[in-house]
Amino acid sequence: MSAHEVADVAVIGGGPAGLAAAAEAKAAGASRVLLLERDDRVGGILNQQVHDGFGTKVFGEALTGPEYAAIYEDRVNDRDVETWLKTHVIDVTKDRLITVHSDKGLRTIEAGSVVLSMGCRERTRGAIGTAGTRPSGVFTAGAVQNYMNVRNLAVGRKVVILGSGDIGLIMARRLKLEGAEVVCVAEILPQPSGIAGNMVRCLEDFDIPLFLSTTVVEIHGKSRVTGVTLAEVGPKMGEKKGTRRFVECDTLLLSVGLIPENELTNKIGIITNPLTTGAIVDDSFRTSVPGIFSCGNVLQVHDVVDYATLESEKAGIAAAIWATTGKLPDADIKVTAGEGLRYVLPATISGTDSVDFTMRSWKEDHNRAIIFKSGGEEVRRLRMPHMEPAGMIRVRLGKGRFRRIVNNELTVEVGD
Ligand SMILES: Cc1cc2nc3c(=O)[nH]c(=O)nc-3n(C[C@H](O)[C@H](O)[C@H](O)COP(=O)(O)OP(=O)(O)OC[C@H]3O[C@@H](n4cnc5c(N)ncnc54)[C@H](O)[C@@H]3O)c2cc1C
Repeated sequence: MSAHEVADVAVIGGGPAGLAAAAEAKAAGASRVLLLERDDRVGGILNQQVHDGFGTKVFGEALTGPEYAAIYEDRVNDRDVETWLKTHVIDVTKDRLITVHSDKGLRTIEAGSVVLSMGCRERTRGAIGTAGTRPSGVFTAGAVQNYMNVRNLAVGRKVVILGSGDIGLIMARRLKLEGAEVVCVAEILPQPSGIAGNMVRCLEDFDIPLFLSTTVVEIHGKSRVTGVTLAEVGPKMGEKKGTRRFVECDTLLLSVGLIPENELTNKIGIITNPLTTGAIVDDSFRTSVPGIFSCGNVLQVHDVVDYATLESEKAGIAAAIWATTGKLPDADIKVTAGEGLRYVLPATISGTDSVDFTMRSWKEDHNRAIIFKSGGEEVRRLRMPHMEPAGMIRVRLGKGRFRRIVNNELTVEVGD
């Protein structure tokens, strides 16, 4: 193998997004597709998620994370995608020259198209600046998942969880099932961050208390955590005086958010959306730099892996078309997130094919509607019995609706 390689499509990150993009790029006609993964196996974060619920949208059945990943691993192998494991991508240029580091040393790859699918990492104690000592026993949810589910190691017996996002909730249940005492889940926001179903399945069913508008203000312990101080917070997140209380525990599990791994995206100079921190893309998942595509959690944090797969398959097909023909439809129709929505993706569309829009609302709401408008007129309305910031909303706009778009502008908003 030479130190300089040429590929039609290079996919960075072998998680579910990268696997789906690589498999579809190959099926769409790219002759050499490279899948570059820094870990010693593909599957990404799914390798440590042994609970079920993956695949309900794509396969109509609830698989575990490793089962779901294995289907796509077989697919890339069957389609002769070249997978390079233990290969860390350290640089990508605007001209799609990729530099990788592995036990074979430094190598470069000249790629016709590049798909960015590097996923997310977790926020740590340093990222949230919690006061106190520096004992062992403070973990991120993903680290606990890895110790328990991959290495079969217990992390502690008496656990406080900070953060009620889905990952924190799932880990509360997992720890309880493994015999640990889960003292409580503390959530700084006045409402839970995870989806309603997980509140019931993971907390209520296991009698685990949830304290809202509450955070950890201090960690105690010398060599090992001996407890944490919880305090209530006001509407501006400031600590409420007189609400401090000590809670004994030997483990603090932090589930305080994910950071999309967009360091390479930013280094390339791709335009990003400050609300998602991911690239701004069109309906082909094309970024602002020609020939570079983005999908999966690095683009937007997904609550359901199936949707990460579906979006990445489209990115992979588009990357193959770009690499082999240099042509994709122009995406001139500008899409804007209106009232009630944090963001909507894609940011521009071509109007040549149906589009699956993904979006998140600012707040929990009931009996509302997602309304697409152009030139002040409604293009589509979809009733939403329930919406919450934790749940990604996905709405398909069929090709026929595009006839109603005027002045190349489309707004998506929450309405009645
Ligand atoms: C801690 C955690 C827990 C989660 N728990 C759940 C859950 O319980 N249920 C659920 O439905 N969803 C869960 N999710 C979300 C779900 O796992 C994602 O939807 C899905 O994994 C996204 O796939 P991805 O391929 O975009 O990212 P990932 O699965 O994170 O894969 C990204 C891959 O890119 C690789 N990579 C990154 N940078 C480089 C580089 N520079 N060079 C080479 N390789 C690189 C990484 O090693 C990794 O393998 C969780 C996510 C996290 C982070």
